[in-house]
Amino acid sequence: MSQPLLSLEGVSTHYVSQQGTRVVRAVDDVTLSLGAGETLGIVGESGSGKSTLALTLMRLLPPAARIVSGRMMFEGEDLLTKSDGEMRQVRGKRIAMILQDPMASLNPLFSIGNQVGEPIRVHEHASSSSAWQRAVRLLKSVRIASPETRVSQFPHEMSGGMRQRIVGAIGISCEPRLLIADEPTTSLDLTIQAQYLNLLRDLQREHGLALIFITHNLGIVAKMCDQLAVMYAGRMVEHGPVSRIFSAPAHPYTKALLGSIPRMADGGERLTAIDGQPPDLANLPPGCAFAPRCPAVTTRCRAEAPPQFTLEPGRGARCWLAEPLSMRSSAA
Ligand code: ATP
Ligand code: MG
Repeated sequence: MSQPLLSLEGVSTHYVSQQGTRVVRAVDDVTLSLGAGETLGIVGESGSGKSTLALTLMRLLPPAARIVSGRMMFEGEDLLTKSDGEMRQVRGKRIAMILQDPMASLNPLFSIGNQVGEPIRVHEHASSSSAWQRAVRLLKSVRIASPETRVSQFPHEMSGGMRQRIVGAIGISCEPRLLIADEPTTSLDLTIQAQYLNLLRDLQREHGLALIFITHNLGIVAKMCDQLAVMYAGRMVEHGPVSRIFSAPAHPYTKALLGSIPRMADGGERLTAIDGQPPDLANLPPGCAFAPRCPAVTTRCRAEAPPQFTLEPGRGARCWLAEPLSMRSSAA
């Protein structure tokens, strides 16, 4: 099999309080891989570690965060051994990210052209005028009408959907190999949402980029993604091809998530709540973190956290129920 574009092995990221007394295990021992041009959906309840995982990949974490273990291979290089300077060459150029809140990633004081052109000036050392011209073309490619006029305007002059697309244009400006989109459609109404998703898919096809799509919406996963990773309390509890997981989920948490959507084809349903509360990531129970809410819980689940069992190549689950089905000899 050819080398994947991205592979994570045992990646853990913790937030440590200033006194060092409180450790939040936001990402705990995550192992996954993604091929060139593929789309991976990451789902999970609020606070399950999705954004932290994405920021870990970008090495753009806040000061309280520590990547405590793991390897993150991207195009054959371990991102965790790179210096900050080397990471600046990767970020925005080879891996780009669209943040959860579009306004937070646009600077109100700079024109759209300036901001869309910035990665091109920085990474490709393009002149201001050629970066400006590229910005116009990029605005056009994300379907902004009258890009020649819009390019000189400022973020507050754009609608929410336009800002989102502008952030998308910044993301693809240097033609990255991997684009990470963190809840890119949350603030958009349904029509604009559908347009934006189509646009991302078109861009992906045109540029052959791999996409990591973080969302609360399983309808979007069904529509957009090849692979799915389900996060619960910082751990990836199930992963594999979307079609396989949707037809036969292995983890009770995944089953509960899928059971909460009446019709997948509708595409507009969000995850509904599952009884009980997610655990405090600074105070995880000794066994499986889902045990207190799990309908299939056993004594073993409360005592011992399950490892990641491989169900078939590229498909795994962290659940004792998956053990009898697992191929114990191969790695996930
Ligand atoms: P959402 O769906 O709400 O965006 P998420 O899955 O992206 O949630 P994260 O933002 O990754 O979740 O947060 C994971 C955990 O890390 C949460 O318990 C959160 O409280 C904690 N956390 C996030 N940022 C920090 C921080 N800067 N300092 C301390 N803890 C943090
Ligand atoms: Mg988030």
